[in-house]
Amino acid sequence: MAFLELQELSKSFGRTRAVERLSLEVEQGEFLTLLGPSGCGKTTILRLVAGFEQADAGRILLDGEEITTRPANRRPMGMVFQSYALFPHMTAEQNVAFGLRLRRLSPTLIHRRCEELLALVGLADRAHNYPHQLSGGQQQRVALARALAVEPKVLLLDEPLSALDAAVRVTLREEIRRIQQQLGMTVIYVTHDQEEALAISDRIAVMARGRLEQLGAPEEIYRRPRTVFVAGFVGASTRLPARLERAADGHCRLGEILLRVPPQPELSDGAAVLLVVRPELVTLQQLEEADGVAVDRSQSQEQENLLTGIVELRTFLGAVTRFRVRADGGQLFTVDLPGLQARTLVPGQRVLLAFPPEACLVLPYGESEA
Ligand code: ATP
Repeated sequence: MAFLELQELSKSFGRTRAVERLSLEVEQGEFLTLLGPSGCGKTTILRLVAGFEQADAGRILLDGEEITTRPANRRPMGMVFQSYALFPHMTAEQNVAFGLRLRRLSPTLIHRRCEELLALVGLADRAHNYPHQLSGGQQQRVALARALAVEPKVLLLDEPLSALDAAVRVTLREEIRRIQQQLGMTVIYVTHDQEEALAISDRIAVMARGRLEQLGAPEEIYRRPRTVFVAGFVGASTRLPARLERAADGHCRLGEILLRVPPQPELSDGAAVLLVVRPELVTLQQLEEADGVAVDRSQSQEQENLLTGIVELRTFLGAVTRFRVRADGGQLFTVDLPGLQARTLVPGQRVLLAFPPEACLVLPYGESEA
């Protein structure tokens, strides 16, 4: 049995179905992230777990015990919000001490525990500062220490970094992960930022419209998205509607071209599919105006899919440069190249696009999604 179990949880607000029959298991010591666009129900799930909302249907079990209707103050949860929510008239130490005071621990014990926690979040020297004397990132560290003070069984973090600037966000997310691993905490983390989710989580639950789309380790979610939604929401990609031809030995038709893809024994010939290719799995080679594909097809790359096209846009992203390439068949490709390879390619340049069959993810694609 999992440490925390959500069984068929549903919650509506009037006509809005915020959460629909969600089942999810979280292991002890696991860092699980709820990832999805605004309004997909992430916060509602967290509030149901915390006890701030009551489910319309379904059950919540913690450590084998049903807590579905237990009031929030009797659930062993700690929560951190986007908006720090510190008490403005209390110092960092007093904020952290708040929950401990309610428990009537001795002042010496409280003081020692606060010192430990402030040291844990890197604020040992800020114990006597008030929130307005702290930066956003520091205030969020205090909020984290305050949530940890009562030794919750589950820590719930609702977009805790989204009010911070990019650099602080990255530092603090690494800190949160370090602390979680050091303490072996069970964490449910909410974000709409896919990069953050990929970086910080043991597993990610991708949500859409109140439902679970896919649950898996970050690499699995990125490399093997199972739905068109997940492929589009997590990571950049080229996504092209195509039709399977000779599905069992791995071919699919993209306009005039027959591409090689991994064999699709489960799908039938003629099935509409979405072809997903990650930008780092495509290479570009400069072509002179007169060059044809024939030259390259005769080379050792015959296993690769080859298309000609023209560079439309070049965006420098630091570690890689991202290109938008219009294939001659009209399809748009997104391609990432590391520095040196990217240097000579500019908009207007004719190029040869190449990607191996294994780079192609093939997803069933309902006509309604087209
Ligand atoms: P965000 O990232 O914008 O916070 P979210 O994924 O956390 O979004 P929720 O806040 O859980 O989504 O909201 C899910 C849906 O339920 C939304 O359509 C929202 O408008 C609705 N909703 C949430 N709370 C309430 C409420 N108290 N009253 C009415 N509707 C609500």
